[in-house]
Amino acid sequence: MLTINELLSKGILLFDGAMGTSIQKFNLPDVDPPELINLNHPDKLKEIHLKYIEAGSNIIETNTFGGSRLRLNLSELGDKVKEINTAAVRIAKEAAKGKAYVAGSVGPLGVLIEPYGELSSEEAFNTYKEQIEILLEAGVDLILIETMISLDEALIALNAAKEAGSKITGVTLTFDSGALGLRTSFGESPSDAILKLKESGADFVGSNCGHGLTDILLAAEEMKKVCDLPILIQPNAGLPEFIDGNIVYNESPEMFMKFTQRAISLGVNFIGGCCGTTDLHIKAANSVLRKSS
Ligand SMILES: [Zn+2]
Repeated sequence: MLTINELLSKGILLFDGAMGTSIQKFNLPDVDPPELINLNHPDKLKEIHLKYIEAGSNIIETNTFGGSRLRLNLSELGDKVKEINTAAVRIAKEAAKGKAYVAGSVGPLGVLIEPYGELSSEEAFNTYKEQIEILLEAGVDLILIETMISLDEALIALNAAKEAGSKITGVTLTFDSGALGLRTSFGESPSDAILKLKESGADFVGSNCGHGLTDILLAAEEMKKVCDLPILIQPNAGLPEFIDGNIVYNESPEMFMKFTQRAISLGVNFIGGCCGTTDLHIKAANSVLRKSS
């Protein structure tokens, strides 16, 4: 079974780019929530994975970000939790064909946990554990808990992953910049987050989504200062802008090349993209990595 040391021994590795915005580009009528593409259009999903692998991704993510029972319940799909997650892993593995690792993507539950909401910590834990057990059983190489805006929820998900038997678990949070510096929606800083996640046994930590290339480098820099845990950053291609009724992300593959150079010099271990990034961004990062190795 793959270990974090084995992954780290391969040098800086590339994750993939956006999944959600890539699915939107197909303009399919029956992929709301986007996890439905796993069942309704497996060929289209495979196409996205293959593009990223061709662009140089060493690790691709399953299309299961919103695949927990509670999140799927928001679309009355909770009873399909096993079917949806299993299909996602199968499709990613078919695309990877052993040439890329497959990370099981796990996102927030979409429901507030006590004391902020009604959901008990125990139910949140059990919901994460259920999804992660399905992903592991279907054969993912690692678990990536991502786009977390609450450190408490991230810690619940991390504990559930470990209880489910995950051997490699990464956690990435989303930060906003404000007067106090970078903070999650619940007010946690990158340095606080990485220290608490390390204490709870995360194998790598980092940041994804958010405001774009510059802010995420600041998050990585802050984390690096306080902790030696491996770091993953997956920025959005800038902030989304509405132009002629379309959502546009303006940070280009050329800008992503400069971002990759900065990430390498900061000592980041894993690089990928979030909303608005495409295979062209990953290709740009790959060209920089190949030159620097
Ligand atoms: Zn994003």
